[in-house]
Amino acid sequence: LANRMFHPQDTIVDVNGIHIGGKKPIVVIGGPCSVESEEMIERIAYKVKEAGACMLRGGAYKPRTSPYAFQGMGTQGILAMEKAGKKTGLPIVSELMSADKLDEFIEHVDVIQIGARNMQNFDLLKAVGKTKKPILLKRGLANTIEEWIMAAEYILSEGNPNVIFCERGIRTFEPYTRNTLDLSVIPIIKEKTHLPIIIDPSHATGDWKLVESASLAAIAAGADGLIIEVHDDPENAMSDGVQSLLPEKFDALVEKGRKIAHVL
Ligand code: PEP
Ligand code: MN
Repeated sequence: LANRMFHPQDTIVDVNGIHIGGKKPIVVIGGPCSVESEEMIERIAYKVKEAGACMLRGGAYKPRTSPYAFQGMGTQGILAMEKAGKKTGLPIVSELMSADKLDEFIEHVDVIQIGARNMQNFDLLKAVGKTKKPILLKRGLANTIEEWIMAAEYILSEGNPNVIFCERGIRTFEPYTRNTLDLSVIPIIKEKTHLPIIIDPSHATGDWKLVESASLAAIAAGADGLIIEVHDDPENAMSDGVQSLLPEKFDALVEKGRKIAHVL
């Protein structure tokens, strides 16, 4: 179903009237790694909106390496995001880790993110495939393009056509970056499938200083959008502060992006 051969025209995923894919303007999604409080997500929502983001990201259920690290605010975080999204008019993107929270996400979240660690959680893929929600499907840490496309196929085959691929870097032997951004996936995904693809330069590089160049390269390579971590106090962030951009840096990045492509 994802195959371009049987579906030559680009799929355009509609998120509350914002179109992702096709020859549409590219979308920029900004926000913190984790929702830390109601006040914080609202404050950052206004800042990313002002900088040109058309959607808000924020995790409430966090897949942390250590069980002792901050695990996210859960339902409270989702409700705080929903409120910030409504106030700013930004649709919200958040990660669903388990199908038992699916009803909560259907009710309160606009785009359901499937995280890298769950790319091959087939029961979770089937569960979100039974909804009509837009699904942001991140590439697994060590998954091939073929495996990634088949993960999308799990969602499509359950009846949900609204899949957006998200490349977030893959694990290689290189320790200078958190992951290695694989930009070649953009033309490959576009050739093999009709689905949109966006890039997450924050998790791909793991270093805020590298986020701008990775973002501009992704735009030049034809990505349909970017999802970027933004925090106004990165040193004290509950997660991923080192890769989070200050709002003013995010703003400068979006302005540079506009010189390469039409940014919504
Ligand atoms: C995230 O978006 O904060 C996240 C955990 O992403 P990934 O699944 O790509 O690591
Ligand atoms: Mn993160």
